[in-house]
Amino acid sequence: MIGITSYGAHIPRLRLNRMSVFQAMGWFAPATIMVAQGERSLCNHDEDSLTMAVAAARDCLIGKDKKTVDGLYLCSTTLPFADRQNSGILATALNLRAEMITADFTSSQRAGTTGLLTALEVAQGGSRKNILVAAADKRETKPASFYEMWFGDGAAALLVGDQNVIAEFIGSYTVSYDFVDHYRGAKREFDYTWEERWLREEGYSKFIPEAVNGLFKKLNITMDDVQKLVFPCIFKAEHIALARKMGAGPGKIVDQMHDVCGETGVAHPLLMMISALESTKAGDGILVAGFGQGCDALYFKVTEEILKMKPRSGVRGSLENKKTIDNYLKFLKFRNLIQPEMGIRGEAPTQTAMTTLWRNRKMITGLVGGKCRDCQTPQYPKLNICVNPECGHIDTQDDYEFADRPARVKSFTGDLLAVSVDPPAIYGMVQFDDGGRFMADFTDCELADLKVGLPVRMVFRRRFTDEERGFSGYFWKAIPEIGGQVALPEIRFDKRVAIVTGAGGGLGRRYALELARRGARVVVNDFGGARDGAGEGSGTAADRVVEEIRSLKGEAIANYDNVATPEGGERIVKMALEYFGGVDILINNAGIIRDKSFLNMEPENWQAVIAVHLNGAYNVTRPAFSVMRERGYGRIIMTTSAAGLYGNFGQTNYSAAKLGLVGLMNTIKIEGAKYNIKVNTIAPMAVSRLTDDLMPPEMAQRMQPDYVSGMVLYLCSENCNESGDIFNAGAGYYSRAAIMTGAGATLGDGQTIPAPEDIRDNWVQINSLENAREITDAASAITSFLLPPSPEAKNGESAAKTADVKGIFAKMPQAFDPAAAVGKDVVFQFSISGSGGGDWIVAVKDGTCRIETGKAEKPTTTIIMADEDFVKLITGELEGMAAYTSGKLKVEGDLMKSQLIGKLFKLKN
Ligand code: NAD
Repeated sequence: MIGITSYGAHIPRLRLNRMSVFQAMGWFAPATIMVAQGERSLCNHDEDSLTMAVAAARDCLIGKDKKTVDGLYLCSTTLPFADRQNSGILATALNLRAEMITADFTSSQRAGTTGLLTALEVAQGGSRKNILVAAADKRETKPASFYEMWFGDGAAALLVGDQNVIAEFIGSYTVSYDFVDHYRGAKREFDYTWEERWLREEGYSKFIPEAVNGLFKKLNITMDDVQKLVFPCIFKAEHIALARKMGAGPGKIVDQMHDVCGETGVAHPLLMMISALESTKAGDGILVAGFGQGCDALYFKVTEEILKMKPRSGVRGSLENKKTIDNYLKFLKFRNLIQPEMGIRGEAPTQTAMTTLWRNRKMITGLVGGKCRDCQTPQYPKLNICVNPECGHIDTQDDYEFADRPARVKSFTGDLLAVSVDPPAIYGMVQFDDGGRFMADFTDCELADLKVGLPVRMVFRRRFTDEERGFSGYFWKAIPEIGGQVALPEIRFDKRVAIVTGAGGGLGRRYALELARRGARVVVNDFGGARDGAGEGSGTAADRVVEEIRSLKGEAIANYDNVATPEGGERIVKMALEYFGGVDILINNAGIIRDKSFLNMEPENWQAVIAVHLNGAYNVTRPAFSVMRERGYGRIIMTTSAAGLYGNFGQTNYSAAKLGLVGLMNTIKIEGAKYNIKVNTIAPMAVSRLTDDLMPPEMAQRMQPDYVSGMVLYLCSENCNESGDIFNAGAGYYSRAAIMTGAGATLGDGQTIPAPEDIRDNWVQINSLENAREITDAASAITSFLLPPSPEAKNGESAAKTADVKGIFAKMPQAFDPAAAVGKDVVFQFSISGSGGGDWIVAVKDGTCRIETGKAEKPTTTIIMADEDFVKLITGELEGMAAYTSGKLKVEGDLMKSQLIGKLFKLKN
């Protein structure tokens, strides 16, 4: 049995509301109102007949073995090359084998059905078994013409073969005449059309019935054997009238999709046939007639195999996936029918070296990369050497097709300066789920649709047109699955080396297990003493955790050193270097308690606690810091406690040690900043050996160490840009704690020394925390004490010295002007680098504003600056445009909206 074995379709996502054409051109062509209903499909600026054919053919090949395809016919009257086989490009894009026949069918609206018929007859002859037939058209029309309304763009593909036939080919009948209702002269862009009545009365009305009746006679069937009658006809009323004349009732007539798509030229009879197949059942007869210089009529019988078709986009899916536009000028520009100024960048040379294209045809046209035979790492482009640094093997790359692999957005940007037919140019990094990544353009989307982590699919699109040489260049782009499930990459620690002190139990064990589960190689340190630190120590606790990690296929090594001695600290770090080759993460967690009220706190208990907590952190951090500095990367965690931050009866030793760790962090933060060493402090709350007698059992369930480890791991990750901050974590509650400094008061004139009475008399102001702020380092503290916000500071010069980034965002709500924000809906993302920086979201909506730290999902505009420059900008020391042009200020997303910031917030003093 010979027939259709698969189908696929592509109708571009964009639809033009026909009324928008009339609204723009009705003054000139009032009669177009008669055909201004519904919408027509239109190619995006990077689509043409070839790219649409690739999309339809890929849809058709779903679930099919590409290697069995031994013929490929491409049918179109709008092919990008007059002399370069277009079906050859299609075959390369699809990565079909070279040992097959490729051919272009063109020059008539009937080319689609003729291509299909030829494929069926070749298969019947037995010389070829599986022939893919793709048909596509993107016909140009003169503005404000009826044809502009009637036509649409689209592509269809059918696979012909003898296995798993879904519609058996029964027979055909063709009449050929040199009948000219329209023609397109060589090198002409538009059709020359004769009277519509001529096409209707002498064309459609004569040749379609002649071919259909000829077929009936030849096969000895009647219209009763036809359940789906497929024939395109641009005149809606004529379509139905003609079908009736041939004996087909309304139930049999397959809709010609005028209202939703328009007529897609050569592709149309095949698209309509696919639409018929989508709603058919086994045993139905389908008659397809393709008109154009005569008519082809083909008859098929649907088989049970139709039920086994794998899900695909098809016509139905293509029609559902749409975006309707009203912008007629956009339609004209996308079709190159108007030529707005593209700027000098638009003149960049685009000549393609045919030598390079030939050598890299698989890579460029087929999106074929490599996969290492030894370590299975995929990479694009394919190179002689494996990219995996742990493999690096030479000549181990096999071809690896990327086009159908699942992928996600890793990063993106909207570039208003890059030349683009549809600015902003949107591009970024695409990460393939199974490995491999590369920079790609995003298409069929708006900037606001994109999110990091959104799934994307790769599509073959036109990358550029070399107008001078008449060459269209193609490459692959990514389409985001708009509204799809965002999967932000898991926080991983692959190849990172972590030291966790006191990891034999409690919180430390949890951190070690979770770090290892996420790929880190962990040094599990635990001295193994009693809760108060007494005893000789034991390796059991650390060994047990290491065993646990290894049983989960993680990597860890046990260390039993005492953090309280400098030698112990040195040995822990040495072990990390010897076994794992570095230190990237250090969690200072080891701890003991020796609680006594202050007067009973003998020096021995005082010193023992200080020795483990404060000296312990110093002893391990110092050698670790040295390694991190060398490697230019480090994440350090100190462990404080509510007792240290706020005080607790009976814990003077512990409180002092714990707040001492905050002091240690404050300075390491400054010394480590330029080496990308970030240090933060955690104040945990969890049940453990240290706290189990303090916590009521009902609280214990919610106080598991897991509730703390998420925060600690985040602070240890590459994602974390914070440094020098303190975070409370426990029982699902997380918050930042900080040392705040009040606005205070400057007393006296600088000559006389303020007396106690002056202090008393200004106590309210001195004691107030109103307008309190954080100070990032001692130097800023001194300047801000000596130069508090005074009239002189306010008028400019020294304001930048006294302000800091966090303070600016803290003050923003007061600086907000609700009146200026009426009707506004914008989200500004501030990404401020440097030790005083961080990420802030400023969301303004209908007269209200919300300011918080973190990263917005879909910011309107992202402002990227260094902390010092940002302070200067806000305090007026740095002018906005100068900052932008010098590169100190980078803006991503909607550049214009960034200008709103100055209007919405009165920040300058
Ligand atoms: P834990 O007793 O379960 O864990 C502490 C671990 O440190 C123990 O396994 C212990 O053997 C080890 N250790 C003690 N001295 C050591 C030394 N000199 N060298 C190496 N290892 C040593 O207690 P935990 O609650 O998991 O405490 C972890 C950290 O969190 C401690 O710093 C503690 O002060 C702090 N903390 C805990 C809480 C809480 O609610 N659990 C609250 C605030 C602060």
